[in-house]
Amino acid sequence: ARTRQEWQALDAQHNLHPFTTFKEIVDKGSRIINRADGVYIYDVDGNRILDGMSGLWCVNIGYGREELVQAAARQMRELPFYNQFFQCSHPPAIELARQLTEITQPHINHVFFTGSGSESNDTVLRMVWRYWSVLGQPERRIVISRKNGYHGSTLGGASLGGFGVVHEQFFGPIPNIVHIGQPYWYGEGADQDPAAFGLARARELEAKILELGPDKVAAFIGEPVQGAGGVIVPPETYWPEIQRICDKYGILLITDEVICGFGRLGSWFGADHYGVKPDLMPIAKGLTSGYIPLGGVLVGDRVAGVLKRDDDEFFHGFTYSGHPVACAVAAENLRILREEKIVEHVRDTAAPYFAERMSELAEHPLVGEVRTRGLMGAIELVRNKATRERFPAEANAAMTCREHCFRNGLVMRAVAQSMIVAPPLVITRAEIDELVDKARRCLDLTARDLGV
Ligand code: PLP
Repeated sequence: ARTRQEWQALDAQHNLHPFTTFKEIVDKGSRIINRADGVYIYDVDGNRILDGMSGLWCVNIGYGREELVQAAARQMRELPFYNQFFQCSHPPAIELARQLTEITQPHINHVFFTGSGSESNDTVLRMVWRYWSVLGQPERRIVISRKNGYHGSTLGGASLGGFGVVHEQFFGPIPNIVHIGQPYWYGEGADQDPAAFGLARARELEAKILELGPDKVAAFIGEPVQGAGGVIVPPETYWPEIQRICDKYGILLITDEVICGFGRLGSWFGADHYGVKPDLMPIAKGLTSGYIPLGGVLVGDRVAGVLKRDDDEFFHGFTYSGHPVACAVAAENLRILREEKIVEHVRDTAAPYFAERMSELAEHPLVGEVRTRGLMGAIELVRNKATRERFPAEANAAMTCREHCFRNGLVMRAVAQSMIVAPPLVITRAEIDELVDKARRCLDLTARDLGV
């Protein structure tokens, strides 16, 4: 076996990582993770690290589930690949499609499989545009999304996303996508009551529809809780108002369930948690608990009904749409989520305890706000709790904290000036204690470094 240093040297020589300043890998070397079990990952030096991010918000049932390995092996022996093009299909995709529609709201009865969340969002765009064209309203093509939303890295997904830096680097967004404000109360609305702020941000949708012309707007898309943007939990007033506005103007509602789907909020989907009725739901990540890539779009009857009467071919798809091995793994993952009552575990046990323990961190001198929803959480770092003043960018507050976390056996992600957590859904109370205790210690070390 190679040593850590050998892995790092080879990695720096040949491997370009996603969302990475390439230069830093050369200068600092990467962390090499080589195994995992339960809620823990291990680096090549044997250090055990509590994975507070479930990989990338995806390892919902935790690491090391042999049943998924067996499901993949069985399917690889039987039918390792076949496609769903030219009127072919196969049992794993058919069976998974059926099972998915069992756990969705009653009006959702179809799924279009993809290989990832980004491909799912590209598929959403194509479906939305086709839907309005088939209805004879092709001029309805603007999709309204939100600043600081994240919907993936294909050009469609990145355009739906609202990260300014991405648009600057890649000359986006593509045409027909516009962005409105996000329901980020702590960062942008703290002079108002949260309920009023939630309504105000939702009503930006109505204002935008009226500005563009209701007959030009095709759909609205949002993550139930924005994940990559910093676990932005909307005020309770937000989603019902979004639903009302979509209904009023007849525009399609899309909830991006790539993170919130499959139990993260203590319900099967984020839309269920917030009581909204989406027409389309892109999914990925927790669908297979990240063991193998698979995504999809759950399609409501309103859209499926129109697409199914289209005389023309739906000119879209991927080689790996509904990959049989991935579908078999997803079905096994769903079985585990159901039979082990993992969604109920999140709702009744893990999320309430996580909320209670995380809220203790709000007392810390470095912390402006702690917010949680289900098993997602954010810790906002501030220089001054009363005024919400931030540290200057060059202080690297969140990055400093992230480094302390890694060194002390915890993965938390740094997003702007917050620390983000989203542990595997199977996390126990004792492991939540460990997570919060380590987080507090790392906040102390960060405060010391920043001279607070
Ligand atoms: N949508 C949301 C809400 C996501 O968080 C992500 C990934 O983090 C994506 C879409 C893109 O998924 P993928 O990275 O599988 O393409």
